[in-house]
Amino acid sequence: MSVGAEAGDAGPGAAASIVAELRAGLGDACSTDPAILDAARADKSGHRSTTAPLVVVTARSIDDVQRTLRIAHRHRVPVVTRGAGTGLAGGSIASEGEIVLSTVAMDRILEISVADELAVVEPGIINAHLNAALEPHGLWFAPDPASKAISTVGGNIATGAGGLLCAKYGVTREAVLGLRVVLADGTLMSLGHRSVKGVTGLDLTALMIGSEGTLGVIVEATVKLVPLPTGTTWTIGAWFADVQAAATASAAITAARLRPAVMEIIDQRAAEIIGEYLSTAVDAAPGTALGARRGAYLLVQTDGPASEVDAAAARTVIESVGGTAELTSDPREGEALLAVRRAFHPAMEAHGTVLIEDVAVPRSALPRMFAEITRIEGEYGIPIPTVAHAGDGNLHPNFVFEGDTVPDRVWEAAGALFQAALALGGTLTGEHGIGILKKRWLGDELGSEQLDLQRGIKAVFDPLGILNPGKVLT
Ligand SMILES: Cc1cc2nc3c(=O)[nH]c(=O)nc-3n(C[C@H](O)[C@H](O)[C@H](O)COP(=O)(O)OP(=O)(O)OC[C@H]3O[C@@H](n4cnc5c(N)ncnc54)[C@H](O)[C@@H]3O)c2cc1C
Repeated sequence: MSVGAEAGDAGPGAAASIVAELRAGLGDACSTDPAILDAARADKSGHRSTTAPLVVVTARSIDDVQRTLRIAHRHRVPVVTRGAGTGLAGGSIASEGEIVLSTVAMDRILEISVADELAVVEPGIINAHLNAALEPHGLWFAPDPASKAISTVGGNIATGAGGLLCAKYGVTREAVLGLRVVLADGTLMSLGHRSVKGVTGLDLTALMIGSEGTLGVIVEATVKLVPLPTGTTWTIGAWFADVQAAATASAAITAARLRPAVMEIIDQRAAEIIGEYLSTAVDAAPGTALGARRGAYLLVQTDGPASEVDAAAARTVIESVGGTAELTSDPREGEALLAVRRAFHPAMEAHGTVLIEDVAVPRSALPRMFAEITRIEGEYGIPIPTVAHAGDGNLHPNFVFEGDTVPDRVWEAAGALFQAALALGGTLTGEHGIGILKKRWLGDELGSEQLDLQRGIKAVFDPLGILNPGKVLT
């Protein structure tokens, strides 16, 4: 029997006494308000648990986190750590018998060191709020998920978040120097370092990044900062007859040793859905005239001192493979070209519940992965509008359906996508994580020996299996 099942089966008396003990230790940080419990049943994955958790503890300090975990450990009660709940893999979804440990209220910036180009933050700070505080110093925390205005830095680290700028500025893994982490039994650990270099012992900071709440609770992060790019930003919006041509152009731009800050592909289906949305949306960016356009879209943005030269070189590559490019350094026009990509999520959500998939392949395999998506669409009779962070080979094929439960047929098509990505030397998830939604395919990528090794590592950190049971490695 899993620990989660034991706690879930704890019965009303045991559950009430656990809540009473939490209240005695943590006071009004604990809530059993049905609306708050209900909100913890879902994230943004389109998935929702069938039952509500026991209690939500909104920690205000490391001490609160330690107290919660000590009580949970003593009673062997599962703990689901939660940031802003914007995850797309079901990682922060909680069910009956589980304690939700929210870190959103731990949102202070503890230090900004301009000399060392680092910041020390609590996990609940919103990514964009940190960057707003860094801007006057000419510095920047580079991980840039499209959810930066609503997701926490702790959640970004726990998922290993990516975003639009990774090919040039790196993923979250490259931006974390050290962490303070509370383990399952309440022990506080300091991992990593403040120095640029540091190779003492095993790299447990790296192990925590992308661990999705299964190894410990991140209560503080020392993050690496980079100088804000200077100079004029150039933006290219390019149209192609089909997505293979757009993917060929993006692969050729990378092969030409160009490193755009942004390089995004929108396939034909997705471009049509965005066009329809922008023609009716009240908040559509002015100048975004997609109505008459047909085909696949490639968005390229260059920044830094060589921005203009790089943009001209990228345009030459685009035109050499048959693309039609618009190029601008005007911020308003650049924003309008970017708005096309930004409109994708709201445009999809206007059609129903959205399952956003997240496979990554080597960049040179992008055209073949798009061909596989077309094949799978035909085989399963399901449209799969797709956008891709083309600079790093990360594709987001999307499925739209009615209701809260992903239909079996959609999972079958998604399973075929995962197999195709693996066959091309890719991976099940480039940035969203495994959570609940992809755990059944984990062994296909890792193999049984590595899966066992990873489960053994999880057991060392969390011998009772109380941290986010049922997710990732379970
Ligand atoms: C519109 C939209 C756009 C998005 N765009 C991107 C994108 O471009 N790139 C990208 O990578 N993701 C994207 N996401 C997904 C999501 O925003 C990221 O995964 C984000 O990092 C999650 O942060 P969060 O604070 O919401 O974490 P949550 O959703 O609350 O939690 C996510 C996981 O992290 C764990 N966790 C959270 N906080 C902690 C902590 N303090 N300690 C230990 N574990 C913790 C949870 O247990 C869970 O497993 C997008 C989501 C939306 C809705």
